[in-house]
Amino acid sequence: MFGNEYPKKGVRALTLKKPIEQLVMREVDRLMTKTGQCRCDQCSSDAAALALKKLPNRYSSTQRGEVLLNVELQSTQLQLDIDRAVEEACATVVENPRHDLQRESEQS
Ligand SMILES: [Zn+2]
Repeated sequence: MFGNEYPKKGVRALTLKKPIEQLVMREVDRLMTKTGQCRCDQCSSDAAALALKKLPNRYSSTQRGEVLLNVELQSTQLQLDIDRAVEEACATVVENPRHDLQRESEQS
């Protein structure tokens, strides 16, 4: 009936190409839901970007890294790294939410 025009929930503007980015975004979503913090596009993409910066470059840099990553995706160590990076990133975003700055500058 509604076909493809039916609105999709949770579709994001971000284009996530790398497996590591998809993993981080999923974890950001999960943690933000758990803690009940703001999950607007600004906050979730800020948290994801911060978390990605905290992760070792080898997870995201080169094409060869992607092959490496596909192996490491199975590993507990990578999961722990992501968990910790996302936790820290979400805490940073809670303390310094940029959506407030946007709102304030729009009001003034
Ligand atoms: Zn927000």
